[in-house]
Amino acid sequence: MYRTHNCGELRISHVGETVTLAGWVQIGRDFGGLTFIDLRDRYGITQLVFNMDENPELAEQARKLGREFVIQAIGVVRERSNKNPNRATGDIEIEVTRLTILNGSKTPPFTIEDESDGGDDLRMKYRYLDLRRKPLQKKIIFRSQLAIESRKYLAENGFLEIETPYLIKSTPEGARDFVVPSRMNPGQFYALPQSPQTFKQILMVAGMDKYFQIVRCFRDEDLRADRQPEFTQIDCEMAFVHQEDILNTFEGLTKALFKKTLGIELDDFPRMSYDEAMKLYGSDKPDLRFGMVFSELNDLAKGHGFGVFDEAELVVGICLKGQADNMSNKDFKKLTEWLKRPQIGAKGLVYVKFQGDGSIKSSVGKFYSDEQLKTWGDRMGAEAGDVLFILSGEAEKTRNQLSSLRLELGNRYGLIKEGDFKPLWVVDFPLLEWDEESGRYHAMHHPFTSPKKEDIPKMESSDKKVLGAIRADAYDLVLNGSEIGGGSIRIHDRALQERNFKLLGFTDEEAEAQFGFLMGAFEYGAPPHGGIAFGFDRLAAVMNGSASIRDFIAFPKNNQGRDMMIDAPAPISEEQKEELAIKTIEKLN
Ligand code: ASP
Repeated sequence: MYRTHNCGELRISHVGETVTLAGWVQIGRDFGGLTFIDLRDRYGITQLVFNMDENPELAEQARKLGREFVIQAIGVVRERSNKNPNRATGDIEIEVTRLTILNGSKTPPFTIEDESDGGDDLRMKYRYLDLRRKPLQKKIIFRSQLAIESRKYLAENGFLEIETPYLIKSTPEGARDFVVPSRMNPGQFYALPQSPQTFKQILMVAGMDKYFQIVRCFRDEDLRADRQPEFTQIDCEMAFVHQEDILNTFEGLTKALFKKTLGIELDDFPRMSYDEAMKLYGSDKPDLRFGMVFSELNDLAKGHGFGVFDEAELVVGICLKGQADNMSNKDFKKLTEWLKRPQIGAKGLVYVKFQGDGSIKSSVGKFYSDEQLKTWGDRMGAEAGDVLFILSGEAEKTRNQLSSLRLELGNRYGLIKEGDFKPLWVVDFPLLEWDEESGRYHAMHHPFTSPKKEDIPKMESSDKKVLGAIRADAYDLVLNGSEIGGGSIRIHDRALQERNFKLLGFTDEEAEAQFGFLMGAFEYGAPPHGGIAFGFDRLAAVMNGSASIRDFIAFPKNNQGRDMMIDAPAPISEEQKEELAIKTIEKLN
């Protein structure tokens, strides 16, 4: 037997027992006649003690142990004179009688402590060492619990877990595909799925009724901190449902996950239409952990000789409570520079300070009387001590910019309470989204999303405005300003699906070549259906108040899409290229 107990298990009640432990040497310390070793495994740390006077040979052996050696120790549990209240096993230690080295270790390239001294790439290269660190272990364990609880909830609610293929066909819609050459079909390629979307819909046509899968998806996009080229979704689809049924089922899932993994009971989730979210927060994923709702000022601010506002499509502002007397001209200058960076692209910032002493100070004081500025403050609920931040310009852009400013101020002024969770359903998304670059409409969610019934006639219009106003039965679950999930009721009728492809600029031939199988299936009794997918990595991260999903993935890729441990991607041999017909293609080109 390698061990009778693990390293997080022994308590005062075990005193006197002979036990066997196995694990890694965290650290060793010599105090004259005594040598202490902290022995670590997934479950915790237990102190081993060796006495030079009683067993010099063994103590000498212990002194030679290096960090990360794998050892087995047999000994007697005894009460510690010097207890450590910060450790679950801190009341006891093991007086070792036999020590076996199971494996040695080189000195690790960084410290295996809660706070490591290793850089990102180094820790990724030695991911197995990084994963030995407690904070990372906790995250991976949390993810495992989250997956297990998801399965439990969905199984209890009648969902079937069904796998869909990873080798599928490339389609130009959506993000870029990762492709895989086919040896047996020279010159032809599979694509890795960006999501199992069409397969799960086909499963509904096949009568499976409720499907889920915790599934890997692949998107060849530029990477950011919260993006990975391969990521995991809790992917679901249900037949004979309306939007309401889906929202209820997955609100239930989210609540169950919070309860089971964090012990938190969430209230019913509020709902907001996409239009409202954009108007009030300038974002389709508003962070509701703090206020600072947008107020539009066109009627109050225009027509007073301030050209910037007069020419703007939208004048809109937010109110920051209680900071007027703390903010200097320099602060506003810095914020203005921050807003003018290309990432945000604002032209400038107007502020109004309602100072503690009742006076008003504003960057546009020349153009507006105090009385006029007060009417702005009244609209925003400002009191003495508050500051208004106002942006103007083209409506959509200005809302975006103010949304960034709102988040920045929320962070800077500590308006976000740690451990607070504010979920939100955003509903009634537009069906289509105009793409300047290609000069045509794209599907805002994906091309299988159903327009709202009452908006179907609008699909016949050739007016850009009318098309842009078509609403879809599409919804997102937002948590603390992150999009956690998204889905829609689907089109299940061939004619409507064809119509939608036309709107998206597909010719009949293109639609048939790419999605003929799905439209064909719709001709054999497709039930009304809809679904949703949760970003699993992101859900795990947001539930832990973490901005990055990387630590919640056992083997993530770096910002260049590289796996630093196995060193992928990598070239392939000439023989492989030959076999995959890549050589021939190179020659033909
Ligand atoms: N397939 C969609 C996505 O990956 C989710 C859905 O519509 O169910 O975003």
